[in-house]
Amino acid sequence: MTIRWGLVGASTIAREWVIGAIRATGGEVAALMSSDAARGQAFAHDNAIPLATTDLDALLLADIDAVYISTTNEKHRQQTLAAARAGKHVLCEKPLDLSVGGAVEMVRACTAAGVILGTNHHLRNAGTHRAMRAAIAAGRIGRPLFARVFHAVHLPPHLQGWRIADPSAGAGVIMDITVHDADTLRFVLGEEPVEVTAMVQEGGMGRPGIEDGVMGVARFESGLLAQFHDAFTTRFATTGFEVHGTEGSLIGTNCMTQKPVGDVLLRTAAGDELLPIDRTNLYEHALARFHGALRGEGIPSATGEDGVRSLAFAAACHEAVLGHGFYTVNSML
Ligand code: NDP
Repeated sequence: MTIRWGLVGASTIAREWVIGAIRATGGEVAALMSSDAARGQAFAHDNAIPLATTDLDALLLADIDAVYISTTNEKHRQQTLAAARAGKHVLCEKPLDLSVGGAVEMVRACTAAGVILGTNHHLRNAGTHRAMRAAIAAGRIGRPLFARVFHAVHLPPHLQGWRIADPSAGAGVIMDITVHDADTLRFVLGEEPVEVTAMVQEGGMGRPGIEDGVMGVARFESGLLAQFHDAFTTRFATTGFEVHGTEGSLIGTNCMTQKPVGDVLLRTAAGDELLPIDRTNLYEHALARFHGALRGEGIPSATGEDGVRSLAFAAACHEAVLGHGFYTVNSML
């Protein structure tokens, strides 16, 4: 069965990664909705999509099985609710919504409608992160004590729009990057965050009042402490993800990225070992899992609940920044 998709949003992420991943994993891109007729027509033409519309209801009436929602963040919730009402499965971009309560509403609406909701947290699909999760689950570093996430990047000029300027769209590095850290930490560690504290920076890229850098610390259920550093403003930093346990350390380098690159070193009393890494395209891994879920085989790699829990981390981070304190991570699930 070929899964037929409608795209909600003529976005960069759809163009750069997701359209290709849908097609590479046996799906068909049947229709597109854009709020702007000319932009939608041009996008559909450039990406060989047969139908373009400015009307979400028209898209939902088309012969499609699922929608991929990659509009700006404030639109995700209403578009997901409409898709659920129309009986379409939903793969939604992160953050699911601007509020945890709104994201919970999306999960509940999709459950009630009997449709599948996935969140496009790409990093848990990376071979590097899957290898670290497997090593931890196999006890190869003993009891994990600390994690460190290095996810400070330089936002490319073509993405320096609403992300650094529009609070109503959920601008700022916490909603853009910290949510990904939250999901990756939860996935690799296999446990949930409990509380978080953070401080933000306005380093010159974001409009006044919009953070473009953050450093924080979270405590997880086991007592593990995780440190995270995210930014839009660092041109020369490298990314990484480390977990340090009682019997060993996992040192992931160049792995907080959209590309299937990076390495993971396992260091124990036995010496250093580079873990074998599956180099599958992250978005194709996610789409293959989503297509499988629609065929009744397994669940999306990141579910709607995962999207809620990762957003709850980011929301607690925002609260901590505003209140200069420690804030409980409350997913409301
Ligand atoms: P874009 O800014 O490229 O697109 C978002 C919306 O902006 C589009 O839906 C489109 O509206 C509108 N838009 C696009 N181009 C123009 C233009 N030239 N002028 C005016 N408006 C325009 O966003 P991204 O692709 O960067 O992000 C979209 C979503 O995906 C966000 O939720 C983001 O957080 C998420 N994301 C996720 C990633 C991941 O790896 N999981 C990576 C990057 C983003 P319309 O559709 O109405 O035409």
